[in-house]
Amino acid sequence: MDPRGAPVTLAGTWFATGSAKNHTATLTLDGGVLTLYAKDTVATFTAGDVHVTGLDDPLTVDFPDGGSFVATAGDAGARALLAALRVGDSPVARLEKSWRTVLIAAACTMALTALFFFVILPAAAKPAAMIVPQKWARIIDEQTLVLLDRAAFGESTLAADRRQELEGVLAGLVDQLGLDADRYRLLMRHGRMMGPNAFALPGGTIVVTDQMADFVDDDDQLRAVLAHEIGHVEERHGLQQLLRGSTLAIMLVMVGPDAGTISHLASGMPAVLMEKGYSRNFERAADIYACRSLVRAGEGTEAYARIMEKLMEAYPGAPAGTAWFSTHPDSHERVAMIRGYKP
Ligand SMILES: [Zn+2]
Repeated sequence: MDPRGAPVTLAGTWFATGSAKNHTATLTLDGGVLTLYAKDTVATFTAGDVHVTGLDDPLTVDFPDGGSFVATAGDAGARALLAALRVGDSPVARLEKSWRTVLIAAACTMALTALFFFVILPAAAKPAAMIVPQKWARIIDEQTLVLLDRAAFGESTLAADRRQELEGVLAGLVDQLGLDADRYRLLMRHGRMMGPNAFALPGGTIVVTDQMADFVDDDDQLRAVLAHEIGHVEERHGLQQLLRGSTLAIMLVMVGPDAGTISHLASGMPAVLMEKGYSRNFERAADIYACRSLVRAGEGTEAYARIMEKLMEAYPGAPAGTAWFSTHPDSHERVAMIRGYKP
């Protein structure tokens, strides 16, 4: 309603500026002008210059000269004046009254939260992961290894010449793919209860369990396993996964990582490798990286598909996140993608 609508009149008490005395008065609103009538006094104010409070009784109008008018409780004109001045009908009040608006606001909040965690944070984690210097990534490897050696791995029982042979398989693949030979190293560990498995640490350390080395039929299958792990390293999946959990860590990495930040990140790595596993998208990306690499290295993807199938057959129902092949329940779908891969 416009303040220039129908005239409104209400009765009340006028408290004049600088006076403890009060006077019976009448206040009218007409054409956007408020007029105060009291004994011996008539004063006018522009509606926009007064301050009206009291959505419930008593309604109070404060004038710019310091005086004020308090309406008589229950005066029917109070509601009309409030309506005319649109007090209590502010945009915020109107919005809050609308359940539809509240629901939309809640949906927007959820959408923004989802946008933050599923789009903005991952999008920010990627460039942050990419700029972490290799020396810091390697320090994460070392710290993670200390924790995993204590909690999960046993010392490798493979003969030294077999270990060397396996190291040669990794070195050959890294060379064929034109990658930085200094970045990569293969470490063999006894996998204890976890059986055949392989892990990529952010700095290029690839840990393969003795059981995996024994399980593969040939070097081609091992190369496939290694190619997948190299994919995790090259695309910095470990660091991305760690950074996705912390906006602060992303900011600290962006301004330049220090030992504290790196140590904090490293403390989360064992859980990524042993419990949570990489995200489904990262596993798919590592699969695609491996397929592309194996094809580029002059091999097909059959050995890759075969080692996946062999593991699935040997360990049906292995819990997600703990077995190399069942990080996610879509292992069959992964095998189909690998076997059908076309560069
Ligand atoms: Zn993986």
